[in-house]
Amino acid sequence: MSFAARFILYYFIIFVSEARVQEYSPVCRGLLSEELIKEIGSYRHVKDEIFRYVLDGDFKRRTYDELAKFVDIFGGRPSGSKVLEDSIDYMIQLTQQEGIQDIVTEDVEVPHWVRETEKLTMVQPRIKNISILGLGKSVSTPSNGLSAEVIVVRNFDELEKIPDKDVEGKIVLFDPKFTSYSETVVYRSQGAVKAGAKGAVASLVRSIAPFSINSPHTGNQNYEDKVKKIPTAAISLEDADLIRRIYDRKEKVVLNITMSSTYDTKISRNTLIDLKGTNYPEQLVIVSGHIDSWDVGQGAMDDGGGLFISWAAPLILKRLNLRPKRTLRSIFWTAEELGLVGAYAYEEKHRDKNHNINFIMEADGEGTFAPRGLVVGGTSKARCIVAEVLKLFESVNATTLVESNSFGTDIDVFIKKGIPGATLHTSNERYYWFHHTAGDTMNVEDPDELDLCTAFWTSVAYIVADISADIPR
Ligand SMILES: [Zn+2]
Repeated sequence: MSFAARFILYYFIIFVSEARVQEYSPVCRGLLSEELIKEIGSYRHVKDEIFRYVLDGDFKRRTYDELAKFVDIFGGRPSGSKVLEDSIDYMIQLTQQEGIQDIVTEDVEVPHWVRETEKLTMVQPRIKNISILGLGKSVSTPSNGLSAEVIVVRNFDELEKIPDKDVEGKIVLFDPKFTSYSETVVYRSQGAVKAGAKGAVASLVRSIAPFSINSPHTGNQNYEDKVKKIPTAAISLEDADLIRRIYDRKEKVVLNITMSSTYDTKISRNTLIDLKGTNYPEQLVIVSGHIDSWDVGQGAMDDGGGLFISWAAPLILKRLNLRPKRTLRSIFWTAEELGLVGAYAYEEKHRDKNHNINFIMEADGEGTFAPRGLVVGGTSKARCIVAEVLKLFESVNATTLVESNSFGTDIDVFIKKGIPGATLHTSNERYYWFHHTAGDTMNVEDPDELDLCTAFWTSVAYIVADISADIPR
């Protein structure tokens, strides 16, 4: 490729993949009619009304207070657990108390993996206890644990180059440098399979995080049928660095690992709350978050915040007597953490009517820090309509449109089917500090930032559900 062509491509990738709306506008020139642009601009007063109600009116701090009450009562809400089902019942009751009756639940079969004993000790060159968190669906070790020498690798290529006979009977530690979550997370999700295929007896992964106070980060991983399932867990950045340093000095590192867990399936539920549209009730704009969380921490950030701003949207519109032309449906997905299970079940169950989903939104993957805009999946024209809507949020600096077609959250299931959608984009710099750790608690959340998220989320959902134009596919 010529230098000029490469420069143009580079420019395109940098500036179009994360563009503020002002920069995004040239891409849209000619795609939207003047009438539509004018119509979207006319929603400024409605947006202002929603912001006043949430930031200075009756709803001020309500999202934070309700979220705090919820996570303090239930704590972590793992897939398949009774506490998750109790928390779903609680949300239904809370919504009914607010005068919204149009609520249904849909049963979903979900994985139920329960962590029991987890203990890791370095026994050579010295005794040291190492904090671990088993990864989702990990199998157990023998009951008295297993001891083995460690091999440390940065990536899958390094592991591939080591002869199988040198991996057999060992524990593989994947020690990847954190670049982005989507790039680095493969060492968590596929590490056990790659190590198991070469004969390792267990695998460990350096937590998928850029920062740590000796905190391991859990998360899901997937075995493959043909490969022997081996126990797998995450360790902290500090302990991964420690083991790496000793290993690089050519000293032998021996670990003893004991893990036990149980695994079966249970019935859980997706929850659907409708604010019926005035003109096209069969057409849907969906706002959503997942109600399940990891067992450690409170699941306040992932995804309690997203859950509660999506709970608030229909409620606020009802209070303000703002009924959009299309139906606004709020969905609380179940069992996201163990593989988007609730989302897949919904898509399959409603497949013959999914042409009615005009736009699908989920607040997950960046927390509910100060809103900055939306990550949008869909056609250029779909993105241009959303970009025009985002122009209304300049005063709160939430006009950024990030292009993506892969979000790592529930709505991927729908985007892949060609349904346009978006996730909330926030000032997410600290998100992966807390993600999937015992530190995912209410202390991460801020009442003013949550109010901004609620107001932004509700306004965008209302405008998209009410404008004359459909979001095209
Ligand atoms: Zn999440």
